[in-house]
Amino acid sequence: MATECLGVVLRTTPVRESDLIVTLYTDSLGRVSALARGARRSQRRFAGALSTLVLARYQLGRAPRGDVWALDNAEIVREWTGLAGDVVAHAHAAYVSEVVGGLYPAEQPEPEALSILVAAWDSLAAGGASPGALRAVELRLLDLAGHLPAIAQCAACGATDLDVGAVFDPSRGGAICRRCAATSRTTGVRPLDGGTRAYLVAVAEAGLAADLAPARALDTDPRFTAADRAAGREALVAMIVGLVGKPLRSLEYLAKLGAAARRP
Ligand SMILES: [Zn+2]
Repeated sequence: MATECLGVVLRTTPVRESDLIVTLYTDSLGRVSALARGARRSQRRFAGALSTLVLARYQLGRAPRGDVWALDNAEIVREWTGLAGDVVAHAHAAYVSEVVGGLYPAEQPEPEALSILVAAWDSLAAGGASPGALRAVELRLLDLAGHLPAIAQCAACGATDLDVGAVFDPSRGGAICRRCAATSRTTGVRPLDGGTRAYLVAVAEAGLAADLAPARALDTDPRFTAADRAAGREALVAMIVGLVGKPLRSLEYLAKLGAAARRP
């Protein structure tokens, strides 16, 4: 059985002396791992398509009853390798890859996830890192996974009066009203004030546009404070990490970059 798909490399893992296991996110198979024989000795056959920040056409094959895919051939379609020159943009790009790789089960096609990832990389290449654009991407990817967080109404009872005492509870699906909050006791629960809620509503609305420019414009929107943006980020990141079920390496790296930037 052989198949050709469009995809990106999520990660590579060395095996034996000269081979690589390449984990891809593809349009027709979703997340899939394939053995690239001899790739540690020479990548000529794969023409640079085993790098990250590359969209490529991959030819995969496997024995009729085998369960291991072999990567037979690859050809680059587009690349964003120039992002490597901007550490923060590069870290955002890696984070989007890691979220796409973590939110969806293996070998279940979700072609829109690949489109969202490409749109995110395009936005990073065009204008650098943008918190608003990244939040919009997170919401789209969560929606695609069936976990769009409730923002304007309580995820438990549907109440829309969230002005006093509301919290964000990632394990219960988002905003929780004051009455339902009595039973929100997990560690990820945080207060959700009106400013944060308004920011997340604006991100969700901006995220419906064809490109990420409206979401990017929220970075300088005077309606929102730095605290609103930071709380919005913490809420969505908590939701994603909870669903992925393990720490994300790209987030640890972003936290380190943030700490370095705040040094005097
Ligand atoms: Zn409620």
